[in-house]
Amino acid sequence: MRINLIAAAALLFAIGCGEQAPKISDNTIIEEEVQEVMVYSHRHYDIDQVLFDEFEAQTGIHVNVLNSSADELTVRMQNEGENSPADLFFTSDAANIVNAQSLGLLQSVNSALLNNAVPLNMRAVDGSWYGLTMRARVLAYNPDKVSADELTTYEDLANENWAGRILVRSSSSTYNQSLLASIIANDGDSAALAWASAVRANMAREPKGNDRDQVKAIAAGEGDIAIVNTYYIGKLVNSENELEKEAGEAVKLFFPNQDGRGAHINISGGGVTKYAPNKENAIKLLEFLTSVEVQQRFADGNYEYPVNPNAQPSELLQSWGTFKMDLLPLQVLGDLNKRAVEIFNEASWN
Ligand code: FE
Repeated sequence: MRINLIAAAALLFAIGCGEQAPKISDNTIIEEEVQEVMVYSHRHYDIDQVLFDEFEAQTGIHVNVLNSSADELTVRMQNEGENSPADLFFTSDAANIVNAQSLGLLQSVNSALLNNAVPLNMRAVDGSWYGLTMRARVLAYNPDKVSADELTTYEDLANENWAGRILVRSSSSTYNQSLLASIIANDGDSAALAWASAVRANMAREPKGNDRDQVKAIAAGEGDIAIVNTYYIGKLVNSENELEKEAGEAVKLFFPNQDGRGAHINISGGGVTKYAPNKENAIKLLEFLTSVEVQQRFADGNYEYPVNPNAQPSELLQSWGTFKMDLLPLQVLGDLNKRAVEIFNEASWN
């Protein structure tokens, strides 16, 4: 919070000039405070600013944003300590927000609105972080090379039927680390290592590029099936680049493990920082972003699913059909992150 300096300066100037102070009762001018909230954000989507502006129009609270990578912002908050101006930390991937939580950079909040808006598996039990938008990590496949009835589970990607056909990015991606963490949690440690080793052996090429590059590689005939986050398909089919659009339209999506635990999901999440100077405003912004009215647009901005079950996904996402999701508490993805990274190393999945 800062005092409205211009009003205060004007008042001092008037007094300094020997003029009579304006007839304003009880110093209301100098007590007027600028309400604000500071977000350290790894999210970088146009819709965020649109919604921050809307939040300011509704509440009078101005939203300041500092954009950088999750790692850089985490280190920054560690260095700033209790002098940090950050009120909120937004990341993509649960593993990143859980990491901030385990470093003691977040604080618990207790908000009935937030607890009602965000399902239990998509928030910290202690209220130190909440899911904001949701994505699934699914299979994109070339329908000319793969028939839908060949597709079943993540575990099945270890089958030799997929030898030389799988496209996937490097294990340095938290998206892959979180998927593997979910496999450790569901199948056990040794099964997860066997899985990662077998998928590594089945790859069509060295792991490289981002999720979009895997879909483009399918279109280029380099492989038949890729592991990707759902929103990248949305980005591709809406791309202004013709080749990207064609690549996105050429693949079909499959949500794995529908007869079992469900497809692996992840979130972009936000938490109130440990030393938030504007804690109440931070909670208000989280409540705004997870409200039914705002969720659909917030999620649509990156072709994601709303976390609030009362909000509808976009038409494009609805066209992919409804799916069963793995209800594993996403906290576990962060808790098992270190082990997932070790297993990838053991499996030579670079
Ligand atoms: Fe991403």
